[in-house]
Amino acid sequence: MIWITVVSLVLFSIVLASIIEGLFHQFILHTPQRKLFGGKLYAAFDKHALQHHPEYRAEDYHKVPTHHENPISLGPLMWPATMLFISPIAVPLFMWLGPVALTFPITVTLYYVMYEIVHWHMHFPRADGQPRWYHKYPPTKNLFDWFDKRHYAHHMIDDTNFNVVIPVYDLIIGHYTTDYTKLPWGIRRRKAKAQAKSERLRQEYAAKVGKE
Ligand SMILES: [Zn+2]
Ligand SMILES: [Zn+2]
Repeated sequence: MIWITVVSLVLFSIVLASIIEGLFHQFILHTPQRKLFGGKLYAAFDKHALQHHPEYRAEDYHKVPTHHENPISLGPLMWPATMLFISPIAVPLFMWLGPVALTFPITVTLYYVMYEIVHWHMHFPRADGQPRWYHKYPPTKNLFDWFDKRHYAHHMIDDTNFNVVIPVYDLIIGHYTTDYTKLPWGIRRRKAKAQAKSERLRQEYAAKVGKE
């Protein structure tokens, strides 16, 4: 029953790719890593959080293809780096299952290709203002709109939707939303915690000042 193995591997790969995408986006692209790998990853934060985000925010979310200031691809090193990153799982899987285990790196690669294509197409609609073929009719139109709404929200509030492709990671951590005016539960909970902490510190301070 090779197809059961293939389907299971595809599902496993999508879940894992989504988690890797989410972690990478949250902790490398949106967190200034000045020490990790001798600060080499800081450039990725600079390019994404400091350049890509403000440049493509709100009314600047869409650009004309020939007039974009910064390339939005993650660059030529991203795919080999991803393959290296998943190799501790890919190699044992290959030794265990044989060639069918190639489904894993192939699905992760397709996931990454999907990221690059969808991200580019979301920011660069056709110069003549006409919708692209997949943006004309359902179901591809609905699918693209769903990608687009989530990424637009991410450009409005950085903390939402770390997944551009499949939002498994965002659903797990409670940062998934299709509407940036409605904060998802993970962000609401963190905000409430921060507010409670500030309130506690204020009360402690007031008590201390009162005693003196
Ligand atoms: Zn973007
Ligand atoms: Zn981002």
